[in-house]
Amino acid sequence: MTESYCTNYQSCRLVQVSDFPVSVTEKEKYLRAFCEAEKSAWKQCKRYITKCSLGFCPDFVLPDIPLTISEIIDKFDEEEFDK
Ligand code: SF4
Repeated sequence: MTESYCTNYQSCRLVQVSDFPVSVTEKEKYLRAFCEAEKSAWKQCKRYITKCSLGFCPDFVLPDIPLTISEIIDKFDEEEFDK
């Protein structure tokens, strides 16, 4: 791991969990484009931004998901309500 990797790299479920709900191809794409890229890239990751804002990040949040933090909270609440 180099210094430029995302500061969440060791704890992020997308990187560390083998059955995280993305395909191998998608995961490799995200690793290249965000997690293992420059700081300017991973700072734009929606999982990074969500973790900074909420202190956690639900699995449905992907690095390039086009949702605001408010929309992510609403979706998370809906999923919890449906359980
Ligand atoms: S998915 Fe986002 S938060 Fe997770 S390690 Fe990659 S860049 Fe960081």
